[in-house]
Amino acid sequence: MLLKFWGTRGSIPAPVQPEQVEQKIIAALEAAGREQINLLNAQSIREFAANLSFNASTVGGNTTCVTVEVGDELIIFDAGSGIRELGEYLMDESDPWAKKFGFARGKGHAYLFFTHTHWDHIQGLPFFKPIHVPGNTFDVYHVHKYVPDVLARQMEQEFFPLQYHQIAASFQYHLLNEGAQVEVAGATITNIELKHPGKAYAYRVEADNAIAILATDGEYKSLDYTSTMKYSKFYANADVLIFDAMFSVRESFVKEDWGHSSALIGADIAKEANVKRLLLFHHDPASTDAEIMRVWQETKEYLGQQQGAPEVLVAQEGLELELKNPPTVSEFSINDHVEKGVIFMTLSGKFGAHATEQFRDHLAHSLQTYQTDKVVLKMENLSELTIAGIRALVDARRTVLTLALVSVPENIYRVFELAGTTDFFAIYKDIDAVLSALNSHSD
Ligand SMILES: [Zn+2]
Ligand SMILES: [Zn+2]
Repeated sequence: MLLKFWGTRGSIPAPVQPEQVEQKIIAALEAAGREQINLLNAQSIREFAANLSFNASTVGGNTTCVTVEVGDELIIFDAGSGIRELGEYLMDESDPWAKKFGFARGKGHAYLFFTHTHWDHIQGLPFFKPIHVPGNTFDVYHVHKYVPDVLARQMEQEFFPLQYHQIAASFQYHLLNEGAQVEVAGATITNIELKHPGKAYAYRVEADNAIAILATDGEYKSLDYTSTMKYSKFYANADVLIFDAMFSVRESFVKEDWGHSSALIGADIAKEANVKRLLLFHHDPASTDAEIMRVWQETKEYLGQQQGAPEVLVAQEGLELELKNPPTVSEFSINDHVEKGVIFMTLSGKFGAHATEQFRDHLAHSLQTYQTDKVVLKMENLSELTIAGIRALVDARRTVLTLALVSVPENIYRVFELAGTTDFFAIYKDIDAVLSALNSHSD
């Protein structure tokens, strides 16, 4: 899955001020001087500029909006002012990425999840151009019952020139229960309540064997193990944890019940949850890029000495993160394919003690279902075989009339040899060999 950040500020949009722009230009020129960049060469200037830190660039001023792309599907989290920018990009179909989605032509579809309805999380929606194109459709997921009502209210004529009922695209609303799990766009998404005025919800998104957590607008008031445990469980093993780092630790103690957290509290929770990357998010609108950079450095320093500490990043507009992990081979799985009265069973992963009952049950069920006693076990996807696995195969040999093993990897075959059991089984090199053997038996 591909994560993109369109707005990372909290509370209210916070554009960069003119004097800050001046400071950034001065800082960039000083760095260019130090690095002896050839300022007469356009190419070297561009390369230098592309590598400037957000201190010389900016984390951006838009409020929260994050997208997750899974395959050709688009999932949007929150509609802060950053969603306006997303809309501009989606409407420009000279870009192949935008063309793929088709929002400019009224063929677009997206999923839209809301963490809660504070202004900084909904205020961009009226300005999101794809909702004003007839034919576009949105599946909107929310845990607070009142989300549809609030989205309509923010477009009443006292607040906005166009009313909610004049939106051209169609919205289908889906109310989620707390803790419910939904499958959308090939992703599994679950939620948990965060402590925040009026409640907010964190989402855990699992796709492509990767896990991303959006946990914005959450206070961790008590930092006792029992209070934070439910969060570290929900955030467990995430590739990315997007965390409310609005306050300093000191502020989070002083501004009790304001519903926000800090980078260092995020560092503790991320470490406890075995998170790979901690993304500082929901930046205070009053914080300059330099101040956010300082928080970033301090968070890295705080975690620096600790074993297995997560990497710390700052969420900034334009940041993209591709999350994808290879499938885990530790699990054991069986897939059946039946042809001409023969069950071809592909065994994958580790065939050890934890898998024997699954194998026995599966075999019994398949023999019953397909009413046959010819089974070919395809073993090319087996990564490990233990003696417990061999024991289960020996038992299978006794219950199945014709049992053949095929495409046995060298390391797996060696285990049969070490167990002195190669002669217990009919082992064939490949499918052709096993088929001709089966045919000659039945002829
Ligand atoms: Zn917020
Ligand atoms: Zn909020």
